[in-house]
Amino acid sequence: MLAAVYRAVNDVRLETVPVPQIGAGELLLRVHTCGACGTDLKKIATGSHSAPRIFGHETSGVVAAVGPGVRQFAPGDRVVVFHHIPCRQCYYCLHQTFAQCATYKKVGCTAGFEPSGGGFAEYVRVMDWIVEYGTVRIPQGISFEQACFVEPVNTCMKGIETLRLRAGETVLVIGQGPIGIILSVLARRGGASVITSDLYPERLKIAKSLGLQNTVDASKDDVVNVIRAQTEGRGADAVILAVGSNSLIRSAMEAARPGGRVLLFAQTQRGEVVIDPAAICVDEKALVGSYSASVDLQDDSVQFVMNREMELERLISHRFPLQESAQALELAAHPQPSSMKIVIQPGNTWKRETWEGNKQ
Ligand SMILES: [Zn+2]
Ligand SMILES: [Zn+2]
Repeated sequence: MLAAVYRAVNDVRLETVPVPQIGAGELLLRVHTCGACGTDLKKIATGSHSAPRIFGHETSGVVAAVGPGVRQFAPGDRVVVFHHIPCRQCYYCLHQTFAQCATYKKVGCTAGFEPSGGGFAEYVRVMDWIVEYGTVRIPQGISFEQACFVEPVNTCMKGIETLRLRAGETVLVIGQGPIGIILSVLARRGGASVITSDLYPERLKIAKSLGLQNTVDASKDDVVNVIRAQTEGRGADAVILAVGSNSLIRSAMEAARPGGRVLLFAQTQRGEVVIDPAAICVDEKALVGSYSASVDLQDDSVQFVMNREMELERLISHRFPLQESAQALELAAHPQPSSMKIVIQPGNTWKRETWEGNKQ
């Protein structure tokens, strides 16, 4: 089968690799669509993980085969898979910090080599604990594209939960890429009054089309001033930073009111930043973070996506065939004003019936 294999820093190649073997309790997924996620892009750009690997973890497709003992799924089922599921028993799980669980850190989906998701390939082996707890059926009429957002939506829900938003609070979301927009929609769903900002007017246009009317064009206006003007000089009750740039942490802190909260959602690279300690001590601003998904929010995220509470497909700007994975990842790593969510789509040649979920 074909796969996009990560070989070294910024080196992803299209290669022919064996179709993964499956064992008892496992299933083989034929990939239709897999989203390119910022965390994969960072691993490819920084070389933080050993090579070779096949990345891709926002994966939807069709069950191609099931191993002995699998009863809940059969070939032909359309599903989306999570690649991490926690044990629910260890110290971290009992304290609801699932992303720190050792079992959670094990990756349960692979297309070969060190398990790393495997969605940028034609077939993925889904391991037994993922089949049992992390594989979700896609209802008829819901596209593979819509379904592949379950994991990113879950991570955003976890971020919103971490902020403990109250209805009526004002939230500023800095960055209106696909994740920033999902975070904004979820904050509004929680009853918050949402202000969004981005340097690209194209992105604000998409945000507006999804009902996020209160936008700030950060290429023209000073976001902190605009927020203060809209909040009687206080600042936002909560600020979400959905851009990886550390230089924006300061603006995010300044845009929050005294006693407000700032959520870092895209700061996945270790390093050092300068922070005004008095903003935290004297002004009582809380700086919090959220990473990865929560198993407690799995049902909620599945319902949000499958009930089409949000038309997530509209966030997709580019669809690449598997053969053009390298170009897809290159574009995803260097976002343009016109690029939003980028997906790799081994299923782009499939029949329309399969796409829409009708049995062939
Ligand atoms: Zn992801
Ligand atoms: Zn655990």
